[in-house]
Amino acid sequence: MTSLNTSQREVLISGASLAGPTLAYWLHRYGFAVTVVEKASAPRGGGYPIDVRGTAIEVVRRMGILPQLQQAHIDTGRFTFLGADGGEVVALHPYAVAGSVEGQDLEIGRGDLTAALYATVRDDVEFVFDDSVDTLDENPHGVDVTFRSGKQRTFDLVVGADGMHSGTRRIVFGPEPEFHRYLGYGFVVFTMPNTFGLSRELMMWNTPGRAAALYATGETHDEVHAFLNFHQPEQPLDVLRDPEAQRELVARTYAGAGWEVPSLVKAMYEADDLFFDTAGQIRMPAWSSGRVALVGDAAYAPSFLTGQGSSLALVGAYMLARSLATHGDHVAAFCAYERDTREFVTMNQALVDKGGARLFPTTAEALEQRNAMLRDLVAMPATTPQPAHSALVLPEPAPAV
Ligand SMILES: Cc1cc2nc3c(=O)[nH]c(=O)nc-3n(C[C@H](O)[C@H](O)[C@H](O)COP(=O)(O)OP(=O)(O)OC[C@H]3O[C@@H](n4cnc5c(N)ncnc54)[C@H](O)[C@@H]3O)c2cc1C
Repeated sequence: MTSLNTSQREVLISGASLAGPTLAYWLHRYGFAVTVVEKASAPRGGGYPIDVRGTAIEVVRRMGILPQLQQAHIDTGRFTFLGADGGEVVALHPYAVAGSVEGQDLEIGRGDLTAALYATVRDDVEFVFDDSVDTLDENPHGVDVTFRSGKQRTFDLVVGADGMHSGTRRIVFGPEPEFHRYLGYGFVVFTMPNTFGLSRELMMWNTPGRAAALYATGETHDEVHAFLNFHQPEQPLDVLRDPEAQRELVARTYAGAGWEVPSLVKAMYEADDLFFDTAGQIRMPAWSSGRVALVGDAAYAPSFLTGQGSSLALVGAYMLARSLATHGDHVAAFCAYERDTREFVTMNQALVDKGGARLFPTTAEALEQRNAMLRDLVAMPATTPQPAHSALVLPEPAPAV
């Protein structure tokens, strides 16, 4: 734990994934005393591959971890789309589909990114694992916090970096449904043995409303990431907290499916790292209230359909820390954070309305159109960077303390 001097502003960050450690790093650099509380017992390892692109690359460069992340870059060689019977529809370079820039943008394991971010700040700020915020009570001088463990402390500011289903957001702003925009899909991710001989490649099977993918991210990897994403017109709220019901829903949805789907469904029942959720966005009219602000998925999750959640978390954390370092008053700082970041967030969230779900067509006609579009991409292999990814030019850091 850092020794505090009385002039330091004390900030509590809830969540130690991507936005939390990034914010902690920059706030520490700007002279804040930072505590991070995380409900898990350690930074969460493992997990599916994620993209870091455009403006977010500059954030990790300024944190000094770009070379390390480049080493961890997955560099997938092939993306093969399959039809109902498992036959190849089209195979192409992944960047042709994602709008990423080869040689600049990164795709890395979520756990690798979390570990790299945590390592930048683990010795400089206080991390409290296995705990979470129970109550927040704001007064003119600070926020009194009661933790689940029963401990009580007071901070100048509290930031919720606790993801899509943020507890901080619920406590301060209200229940999730008020801010959640359901995008029509349920999905499950897990790892399974790589009995398919796949190497640095992604295979995706589709029928209308159903997708099943296998993603091999390392040459010698003995496991693959399995991903089942399916159309559900109504959000399946009844299964969200019930893993057995989630498995049953998925098994029902994929009954009778071809290709390797039956072995994926079987492996889902055996997986110990199952992650089920629905595709959705968080849209809030304001990202702060009094002394409490939100960052990353907690404030503006764009959904995996945009592939921009990690990048928004990194950029948002950088912008929030810089605003707090630049403005003595937290009201002005939170206002500047939102003013300078919201357009970038809005552009990236809007990617779902501009074809973000095109990989997951829900009708036979849309699937035909998607396949025609993919075949056109093979004919035109040059990647076109997605302007939204770099729409924010990162301001210089505030002076370090
Ligand atoms: C299947 C899938 C694929 C994805 N693919 C991509 C992709 O290709 N590209 C991309 O950019 N993004 C992708 N994303 C999104 C990306 O993972 C998130 O946008 C990103 O992790 C957001 O970071 P965050 O730090 O804001 O929140 P999170 O990563 O969700 O972290 C929240 C943290 O807070 C902790 N926490 C939660 N509640 C509490 C509490 N009450 N108290 C204390 N701690 C708490 C959690 O344990 C976690 O450590 C994908 C997501 C999924 C699910």
